[in-house]
Amino acid sequence: MTRIAIVGVAGRMGRTLVNAVEQDAGATLAAGIVAPGSSLAGADIGELAGVGKKGIAAVDSLAACAADFDVLIDFTTPQVTLANLAFCAEHGKRIVIGTTGMSDAEIATLDDYRDSVPLVFAPNMSVGVNLTLKLLETAARALGDEGYDIEVIESHHRHKVDAPSGTALKMGDVMADALGRNLKEHGVFERVGQCGPRSDKEIGFATVRAGDIVGEHTVMFATEGERIEITHKASSRMTFAKGATRAARWVAEKDNGRYGMQDVLDLDA
Ligand code: NAD
Repeated sequence: MTRIAIVGVAGRMGRTLVNAVEQDAGATLAAGIVAPGSSLAGADIGELAGVGKKGIAAVDSLAACAADFDVLIDFTTPQVTLANLAFCAEHGKRIVIGTTGMSDAEIATLDDYRDSVPLVFAPNMSVGVNLTLKLLETAARALGDEGYDIEVIESHHRHKVDAPSGTALKMGDVMADALGRNLKEHGVFERVGQCGPRSDKEIGFATVRAGDIVGEHTVMFATEGERIEITHKASSRMTFAKGATRAARWVAEKDNGRYGMQDVLDLDA
């Protein structure tokens, strides 16, 4: 039974994770961590998540619950996540990271921990999204440089703080790799004013932020005469939380290394 601690347990994903771990036969809720100094420290994490009393009081530091868990699930902010990663490496814990919005330098920091902690990092933990990445790789490879314009359109709720979404960027990366392009060079993230016609190789991104949209991604491959659209729509955060719980069970058995959801799901993308 994998003992799981959840960071940011009072957050949107944190509360959903409590539900997902509760429902998982191979995992058990071990601890929940709130922000330092939070008035929610001491609150029952089951009550925070709306699943009834669990008898586990939220703590406001990892040190306060280090003995209780095997795997930490972290959906917070880049700075908090990197500090928690260092803690896990130091204390022989494993970690599943769902936090998005990391800079390239912060993502590179994850690699510094390859030899000191088993970690899964994925900007999207949904099984459906990870299968979609595989479909996009196949489509990009097949369509190649045959005149198909690629555009990624993503929509999320009004509270999301980073754009484009980590998932949209990951989709762009997978397709750029399949096409021998570089997203840094070919990604177009803004079009405004007299920006001229699109170039053949660019991969365009458009962002919608509105209401309570959980997460929608459409990739369009458009050419003269036809258009292919591959769409994934998340209707509940439970899809991410279930994927993260599955990743936590999986990484509990792994050696040090940085893994992604493709590894967890054995999709090899
Ligand atoms: P949120 O703001 O609702 O929750 C974040 C929580 O972290 C808050 O409750 C905050 O108080 C807490 N927190 C901040 N500092 C902390 C600290 N030092 N210790 C403990 N807790 C701390 O945000 P959210 O919607 O739950 O999203 C969190 C992150 O997860 C974002 O980066 C989001 O993009 C990402 N996300 C990833 C996936 C995925 O599948 N990988 C899916 C959904 C969201």
